Amino acid sequence: MNSFDDLSEPLDRRLAAGLARLAAVARQLDWQAAEAFGLSPTQADILRLLTRRPEGVRLAVAAAHAGVRSATASDAVGALERKELVRKEADPGDGRAVVLKATPAGQTLAGQWPASFEPAVAGLDEGQQATLLRLVVEMIRHLLAQRLIAPQRTCVSCRFFRENVRPGEAEPHACALVGMNMADRHLRVDCPEHEPVAA
Ligand code: SF4
Repeated sequence: MNSFDDLSEPLDRRLAAGLARLAAVARQLDWQAAEAFGLSPTQADILRLLTRRPEGVRLAVAAAHAGVRSATASDAVGALERKELVRKEADPGDGRAVVLKATPAGQTLAGQWPASFEPAVAGLDEGQQATLLRLVVEMIRHLLAQRLIAPQRTCVSCRFFRENVRPGEAEPHACALVGMNMADRHLRVDCPEHEPVAA
């Protein structure tokens, strides 16, 4: 007798297709929000990154984050500078280099548009959100291992993360920086205190 498996596309392919649909919708919502504020999607991506990095980032980091070439990122940064949403400062670690920072006006503007996945996530209960967060972090880990994504400030790439040190408990992980136990729901995707694991 046939099982439904015989009638179905492979599970991984259906899952990838579903995620691609979600990503497309999220991207569309991002573009609409950016457009409403007079920004291109790349400008919006870079501005949002800079609002989370008050210490500033170099152009190459901004380009990798936005998934564009350096020249495209440079054009976007130029436009953001003209709009007085971003400024360049000397890199304190290298006087010949510059870092990009969001201006107060840039911070205010970026704070006004919603995270694009919010409508999808809002439909899940807290337990489902925690499970999904764990899986998202796991997917980021795999992408990092394959060098398919720019370095991320997530727990699984952080030298302070102690993963599953209390298996089976409600808070199986720990953050050695703050000395506290963590559950999956506490995992961070973009932590300002993150320090990368030594190569
Ligand atoms: S410092 Fe941040 S990224 Fe690192 S383990 Fe602690 S919470 Fe996670």
